[in-house]
Amino acid sequence: MSARLIDGKAAAARVLTEVATQVERLKAQGIEPALAVVLVGDDPASHVYVRNKVRSAGETGIRSLERRLPAETSAEALLAVIAELNADPLVNGILVQLPLPGHIDETRVLQAIDPHKDVDGFHSENVGGLSQGRPVLTPCTPAGCMRLLRDTLGDLSGKHAVVIGRSNIVGKPMAALLLAANCTVSVLHSRSRDAQALSRQADIVVAAIGRPRMIGADWIKPGAVVIDVGINRIEEDGRNRLVGDVDFDAVLPVASAITPVPGGVGPMTIALLMHNTVTAARQQHGQESV
Ligand code: NDP
Repeated sequence: MSARLIDGKAAAARVLTEVATQVERLKAQGIEPALAVVLVGDDPASHVYVRNKVRSAGETGIRSLERRLPAETSAEALLAVIAELNADPLVNGILVQLPLPGHIDETRVLQAIDPHKDVDGFHSENVGGLSQGRPVLTPCTPAGCMRLLRDTLGDLSGKHAVVIGRSNIVGKPMAALLLAANCTVSVLHSRSRDAQALSRQADIVVAAIGRPRMIGADWIKPGAVVIDVGINRIEEDGRNRLVGDVDFDAVLPVASAITPVPGGVGPMTIALLMHNTVTAARQQHGQESV
């Protein structure tokens, strides 16, 4: 048996088509959805991410504004930029690309974003809303994983889902979304005992660890669905490669479906960012409650 590949590129293209249709409708009403992307410093990976986000916005008809600030920008100067974007009625979504330079407190910056424009869903108002089951802007990567899971399995009710990783941006919101979808959820982390045995009980495994190919075949129950969030740059056979947290070749014969890296979760993250931007624009114009 070989697992079915979950095609994140195709799923992302479907989301982007939905978004483009919504953008057209809003434009017909005189509303042009706009996303502001704030980038501080010269991290090469961050520059690539921002470029991709701006390109996707353009493809869906969303206007994008870039605010590029030098690495030595003070926290106060960055907060002033955010205040200006918060106050601008023509800006619907604000994204601050992480990581920020070490001298800036990320939490303080994320908390300064207007929760209604917080298209990354990291503000405590949105984090709290997610855990209470209120309709709020939801972090893009876990929201993208949920779409892939629903496309693959349909109703997730009653499934045992194991999330490996408990970060604020992936693991914790992923667990909250799975719980809201009526899964039985276990969250594993670096201090978990018997992690492998627990993972092997799961119908759904979501790996968000940041360790290349850590999850081997012996972590996966035959027939489980595996979502690999990891993006790890490694050098292998003299080449630079992107690999996930799952040992793809080893797990392929065991799982029933699996996301590849690249081409799985990654494209969904950007697509859901565009979805959140349109949702924020509609909400700000009284058209829906997210
Ligand atoms: P973090 O480093 O913030 O979190 C990693 C988590 O993995 C932590 O909770 C940590 O546990 C846990 N962990 C580490 N080692 C082990 C272990 N041996 N066993 C079990 N758990 C372990 O990473 P992120 O959540 O930010 O990202 C995770 C991965 O996802 C990375 O590869 C990142 O590049 C990728 N990513 C991909 C995105 C996409 O669009 N596809 C978007 C965001 C991230 P503890 O809390 O105990 O330290």
